[in-house]
Amino acid sequence: MDAVETRPAVLILLGPPGAGKGTQARMLEEEFGLVQLSTGDLLRAAVAMGTPAGLAAKAVMEAGGLVSDEIVLAILKDRMAEPDVTKGVILDGFPRTAGQAAALDGLLAESGQRVDAAVSLEVDDEAMIARVAGRYTCADCGEGYHDDFKQPVHAGVCDKCGGTAFKRRADDTAETARARLEAYHAQTAPLIDHYDHLGVLARVDAMGSIADVRAALGGIVAAITV
Ligand code: AMP
Repeated sequence: MDAVETRPAVLILLGPPGAGKGTQARMLEEEFGLVQLSTGDLLRAAVAMGTPAGLAAKAVMEAGGLVSDEIVLAILKDRMAEPDVTKGVILDGFPRTAGQAAALDGLLAESGQRVDAAVSLEVDDEAMIARVAGRYTCADCGEGYHDDFKQPVHAGVCDKCGGTAFKRRADDTAETARARLEAYHAQTAPLIDHYDHLGVLARVDAMGSIADVRAALGGIVAAITV
């Protein structure tokens, strides 16, 4: 096996808030042993810990805007340097701007890596507002639920781990979701063309069931991790 075949796989999930990036990334992580790297999760952790980056990011996140490239890139670089990233990463919510995409290409090139696949999860905007506004997760295992579309089988008890504490993101309101959607169309959607030109783009209809989307993504990941 040569060096090209053994370098860590890099998969990018693109899509507006609610498209299912986090849900799918967690499933792919379990199945393929890749590491889900969500800049949103890393930023929320920084906010919760009250780090300087977290303090700078908090208000922007609450308004549904994009945190500065400088802060996001610093957080991403630290995470990419950790040892568990050896088999590969699923980038969930990064890159979100042309500057971040260029920085990622540079960072990967330093270690002989590149983006292997970028998947655009294609969805309907209005449906995304409804998805985001009602969603919540198990505080223990992160399993996702929704007020209208997916309640736990036994009220108040997580189907997956039996946990009884649930949480909602501060920015998962209809109003903030609209601002996030606007930021996506203005700054992130143009990256679809960037990865198309690089020849690594795949488009997946993400309005279907979680299982159908998962099946489509599984084929793509299998092809880049052999
Ligand atoms: P997410 O969890 O991916 O929906 O991200 C939640 C919020 O974190 C976003 O609305 C942004 O304010 C911020 N954020 C996450 N990732 C990025 C990124 N790559 N660039 C800029 N801001 C980000």
